[in-house]
Amino acid sequence: MRFPVSLYLSMTRYLLGKKLQKAELFPLVLMLEPTHRCNLTCAGCGRIREYRDTILDEMTLGECLRAVDEAGAPVVTITGGEPLLYSRVTELVNAVLARGKHIYFCTNGLLLEELLEQFRPDSHFTWNIHFDGSEAVHDLIIGRSGGFRKAFAGLLAAKRKGFRVSTNTTVYRETDLADLEELFAQLTAAGVDGILVAPGFSYEDVTGEVFLTRHEIMHKFKGIRQWGRRFPLISNPLYLDFVAGERALKCTPWGNPTRNAQGWKSPCYLITDTHYPTYRELMEQTDWDHYVSGKDPRCAQCMVHCGYEPTVVLQMSGKDLLRMVKWNLYV
Ligand code: SF4
Ligand code: SF4
Repeated sequence: MRFPVSLYLSMTRYLLGKKLQKAELFPLVLMLEPTHRCNLTCAGCGRIREYRDTILDEMTLGECLRAVDEAGAPVVTITGGEPLLYSRVTELVNAVLARGKHIYFCTNGLLLEELLEQFRPDSHFTWNIHFDGSEAVHDLIIGRSGGFRKAFAGLLAAKRKGFRVSTNTTVYRETDLADLEELFAQLTAAGVDGILVAPGFSYEDVTGEVFLTRHEIMHKFKGIRQWGRRFPLISNPLYLDFVAGERALKCTPWGNPTRNAQGWKSPCYLITDTHYPTYRELMEQTDWDHYVSGKDPRCAQCMVHCGYEPTVVLQMSGKDLLRMVKWNLYV
């Protein structure tokens, strides 16, 4: 099973509830960034550059939990920055789990082994560790020799303690598919529960030609999607059709709203026009039609999963649903 049954049940219940309410704009996943502080300075990272002037700010625990309640999404991705540096991280995780939410906790893994004792395995909690290539490639991208080994040791320690562990890989222009294949084989042998793979985001604050154009994304992902049976890929297969150029989709920018210390980021995880103090203002004041139309020049090359995976979920046909069920069971 690529995703736990409990996650499917929570999401299905939530979607049926929204359908009964005839709700049109609602989130599936909350992207919660309690801090942008990080112990790395990766070359392709937009967050530490966009928020460089406020990088030491952090959300209060109360603000984090209010965001979880305001959005109401069944899944909370805790990210950053490096969220293990958040001063109240254990309390945050426990309080979000106590609300019945599913957590994907994104980390670069450097502190994982050392802080693991503070957390308890839970069927609703998954560590999501970032690996961008095999050891040498990953260390080059993150700019830290020994970073891969440390994160991998954290991964193994988490598995030993009974945690669910998935990984997250960003594909850049220089990414070599043979190197990714080697990485995914290593992660699979280590027993990871899922491997998420997605094209890199083209942040305005990141200079250099590290990001792929749509054409280049399609070319790389035509190869990657063939690995679905060999490796526990958890990138949605219908989304992988899209990134391989075989399915047309419009963005659903409200599907994965982002909250950080500056407020609710509008319009999406990737680009920032403003921050709103409340979720309600984000939903009511953002010109969603403009971004869904794809006419904004910043959207031209974007195929980011947090913009398009919600579209897949919301537009799923009966045939798609059957394919998803089989895919989750590796049939
Ligand atoms: S670990 Fe993540 S947040 Fe930190 S610099 Fe790298 S990409 Fe950015
Ligand atoms: S297409 Fe990409 S950049 Fe544009 S609104 Fe959607 S997620 Fe944001």
